[in-house]
Order: sequence, then C-alpha cells, then structure tokens
Amino acid sequence: MKRLSILGSTGSIGTQTLEIVRCNEDIEVVALSAGSNIELLEKQAREFKPELICVYDEEKAKELSVKIADLNIKVVSGMEGLIETAVIESADIVLTAVVGMIGIKPTIAAIKAHKDIALANKETLVTAGHIIMKLAKECRVKILPVDSEHSAIFQSLQGNKQSQVSKIILTASGGPFRNSTLDELKNVTVEAALKHPNWSMGKKITIDSSTMVNKGLEVMEARWLFDVDYDNIDVVIQPQSLIHSMVEYVDGGIMAQLGTPDMKLPIQYALYYPDRKYLVGERVDFAKIGSITFLKPDTEKFRGFALAYKAGRIGGTMPTIYNAANEYAVAKFLNREIKYLEIAELIEKAMEGHKVTENPSLEQILEAEKEAHESVRSNNKISTSFS
Ligand code: NDP
Ligand code: MG
Repeated sequence: MKRLSILGSTGSIGTQTLEIVRCNEDIEVVALSAGSNIELLEKQAREFKPELICVYDEEKAKELSVKIADLNIKVVSGMEGLIETAVIESADIVLTAVVGMIGIKPTIAAIKAHKDIALANKETLVTAGHIIMKLAKECRVKILPVDSEHSAIFQSLQGNKQSQVSKIILTASGGPFRNSTLDELKNVTVEAALKHPNWSMGKKITIDSSTMVNKGLEVMEARWLFDVDYDNIDVVIQPQSLIHSMVEYVDGGIMAQLGTPDMKLPIQYALYYPDRKYLVGERVDFAKIGSITFLKPDTEKFRGFALAYKAGRIGGTMPTIYNAANEYAVAKFLNREIKYLEIAELIEKAMEGHKVTENPSLEQILEAEKEAHESVRSNNKISTSFS
C-alpha cells in the first residue's frame, strides 16, 4: 500500500491525482491540503477519509472543522499546518501541487522527514533547487518529476547513463499566441490568455504557458532535476503536444516520450515509478494526427522566455527574482491591474535592479522574493502614472 499526502489537492494537478487514487486500490490518501476551497475539501474528506487536512486560510480551516465534525479528521492551518501535512508520519510520498513559492518550506520539511517527493510545484525547484537537490541526496529521497516535460525526460533516461547525455530538448506547445504578432499581444485579454490550445491547467500556469515564462521556469527546473548546464538545454516548439520532451545522447541517438496530452500519465508514473499501470484514456492515433511540426521559439515576442535563460545563467538569487516578479505580475494581470506585455517588462525591471547573492540560504531566497514583489509594486505604479 502506498500512502500519499497531497499539497494542493483542490487544484488541477491535485484533483487529477485523486482521480488516479480512485482507480487504484493499492494507494491511500493520508493527508490533503489547499488554500481556501473548503467546499471541495469537504467532498474530498468524505470520499478519501484522510487523517489530516490543512486549509491555509485560518478562518476557512475553522469552518471546515465544523462541517466535518462528524468525521475523525484533524484540521490544521497556515504554514505550520502545511508543514504538518508534508511530514505526516503515515505518508511515504508527498505530492507537491501547490502553486508558487509557498511550496518551498513544506517540500524541504518533507524531504527532511524522508518522504519521496512527486514534484509538480516547479517554482520550488526554480528558486531553491540547489537546496532541495542537495538535501534529497543527503536524505536519500527521490524527487520524481510530475511536470510532463520533465517526466518525459525522466522516462527517456531510463536504461541509459546520465553521463552519456549530450543535451535535453524540452518541447513547448507555443501556447495560444504562437501565431500572434508582438503588436497583437499588446491588448491580450485575461480570457484570451486563459485559453490554452492543448492542456487544461490552473490559471497561473495557463498564463505562464501563454507568455512562455512556463517554459523558462521548466528550463531552470530541468537544470536542477537532471544536473545539466543551460548550454545543453534546448527548447523547441511542437504545437501538437505529442512529443513531451527528448534526450539526445553522445552518439546522436534521441529518446523521446510521446502520448496524448494528459497529466494523469506523468502523475501516475511519479506515484508508481518504476512501474507502469493501466491508465484509462485516449491513445495516440498517428495516422489521424498526420504530421508533427517543429519551430524555434520567438525570443523577441516571448521576452519572458529569454529572460529565464538569463536569470538561470546568472544563478544565485536571480531565478527567485525572475520567478517571484512573475508570480506577482501574473496575479496583477489576472486581477486586470496590468497589461499582458507588462508581465515580462516587470520581470525584467526586477532583474535589472537586483544585486545577486550567490548560493542563497532559504532566508535569502525569501528576502529576494519580497524584493521582487516590491519592485513589481513600485514599477507598476510608475508605469500606470505615466500611461
Ligand atoms: P491550481 O491553481 O489549479 O491549484 C493550486 C492548488 O494549490 C490548489 O489546491 C490551491 O488551493 C492550493 N493552494 C494555493 N495556495 C495555497 C496555500 N497558501 N496553501 C496551501 N495550498 C494552496 O494549480 P495547478 O494544479 O495548475 O498547478 C500546481 C503546480 O503544479 C504549479 O506549480 C504548476 O506550475 C505545476 N504544474 C501544473 C500542471 C497542470 O497541468 N496544471 C502541469 C505541470 C506543472 P485552493 O483551491 O483552495 O486555492
Ligand atoms: Mg510542463
């Protein structure tokens, strides 16, 4: 029996993970957590009967305790509660599917408690990859990628030697604005940016996919997961989202993982690695697809993507500045406070003003996060007052 704790059970990854649990008798959920969606948490509590639930919002946690008073479930809240969910004694594996840097502390705590990590929460690796990967090695825990591209790379590495990899090729769908001009991007609405052509995901990552910042974050995520230099990570646009990513070896041979765009496959692979299990769903019909096409990413149009390589190569606290400025700018865009192209502009301004700290501690990473938020706040005010 596998025992699972889920951080972010009400989100896109969280609910798809629970669909997998529903179809398998050898996996049990021992803890659930979310930000504030107690309506869905109550349903999940009644169906999966975990020991522990964390609702980050304290008031909502109190409300949930009343709603599920008939069940024998402990309800906790805040960062302390999230950490309690991550280290719960009965779990063997923790799935990190919260969105944003809020995932760093619980992920570190789970690794220290010797839990394997099924990692969806890429922002944690982007900002604290040097801490997480070192700690995972010391504590001998597995970091199993859930992100589809990284799962594809992980699958393509099986049976081969990592020392014989020559490069990693991340694929990207190109998002809804692949064929738009830079001029057309000026007036992109929230609704248009939330329409992803191939994947159905949470709001933040959907916006990130449209700006290609998501692919930038994934480049940094790959750097940490697979210990490769930025010079050896390429990105290619493959609009059909059929090839989920590839690994090129020193002899020129390329291994790839293909499949229909369905996050349940990488989630299930992370939960059962190295086993594969039956998964309900559509299968690829190559004749129906007809052709697979490839394009180079447009780094002028997708400025946020180019900035990711820059931030990654500079290293230290710069990836945190990149990530935190993006998180805050995306929240502002979703709130209709800034224009679409300002997301990348605000990231760039935050990076320009930053003095890098090498090999930052957790405290320094969290300081850099605050600095990035402050930069977005002040630069946003300036641009609004002049427009
Ligand atoms: P969603 O926005 O759909 O879900 C986020 C989850 O995190 C929700 O359960 C939310 O709870 C919870 N949450 C938010 N804030 C807090 C908090 N302070 N404390 C505890 N829980 C919190 O996101 P996704 O599922 O799309 O993405 C999750 C992560 O996985 C992201 O890092 C994303 O980049 C990554 N990922 C997602 C993919 C996808 O297909 N969706 C693909 C690859 C990676 P509530 O509902 O109460 O707000
Ligand atoms: Mg991805």
